[in-house]
Amino acid sequence: MPLSNADTKVLWSNAAGLCSFPDCKELLVRFSKGKDGFYHLGEMAHLTARSIKGPRGKGLLSSKARDRVENHILLCPKCHTIIDKDPDEFPIELLLQFKLAHEGWVAETLHLNLEKRSSFLDFYFDLLKTMEHILLFDRWTWMIDHLWRDLSPSEVIESGAKVRMILLKTIWPGTIPKLEKAMIQTLQYWSDLCLHFASGARYRDGDAAFMISDHFYKGMSLEERFRAERKQEKWSNGNGQRIFTYVASLNHLVNVVRATLSPAYRQDFGHFIIPDELGYRNNGHSVYTKPHSIEPSSKKKAVQRKERARRKYSPK
Ligand SMILES: [Zn+2]
Repeated sequence: MPLSNADTKVLWSNAAGLCSFPDCKELLVRFSKGKDGFYHLGEMAHLTARSIKGPRGKGLLSSKARDRVENHILLCPKCHTIIDKDPDEFPIELLLQFKLAHEGWVAETLHLNLEKRSSFLDFYFDLLKTMEHILLFDRWTWMIDHLWRDLSPSEVIESGAKVRMILLKTIWPGTIPKLEKAMIQTLQYWSDLCLHFASGARYRDGDAAFMISDHFYKGMSLEERFRAERKQEKWSNGNGQRIFTYVASLNHLVNVVRATLSPAYRQDFGHFIIPDELGYRNNGHSVYTKPHSIEPSSKKKAVQRKERARRKYSPK
């Protein structure tokens, strides 16, 4: 499917009929003295190509998302040829910067009150960056692998407090409600996971960098030990369920960011998965949690979901 009629108009308007390549700004609507009058030479180039074989075609963007206006940049024929001939020199991220810079320049220049909008976008980009840092995206596998085994790096659990501070202090602009909801949800689930883990954990002896289960101590009677084991199991299952819920909401957030802020967001990375090579909870199968937004549903549904998660993640 080519770009829809409506999306075409949006792209042309946002670019003010000029080539979006930095410093080109070629006027794309011309007037001919011949009988045809106006004609245009604008080309609506894909950021991620329509086909996987096209220039910049790899990536996980769905074919539907590839046809959206967010995935297009308006260019003159010359600049379009340049970027397509050299996809390594002009990767998706760079083209997205060109697009946003040009559209931002148009908005500011024309005083379309979009200056306000772009500062709100900055708010979301900044918060996203903060979240990536606090939620340790760059050390995902290392972090999730530990958590999955009930062995948490202390900084992970301590980050819960930072997240609660963000939730308390942030004044949300309300420009992109769907994105805000997804961000808040992810932060809340993360905080919940950290609080739950901390409720049954202590620093590891001689190594405060990690936190471990705090259910046993020396000199317990058999009966106490039995009770503690059951408590620990309950705690551990609670961790598993919360990790599962958190990762699902994180994957949902990634989808929403791609749909609202940046089509190329973490495209190479795909989605967050929970590796389980050691077979700790899931018989050695890595878990891809389907992105889903958790709507306030009936209590019954929530209980069912919990029950399903519990059955799935009970240690064998
Ligand atoms: Zn150009």
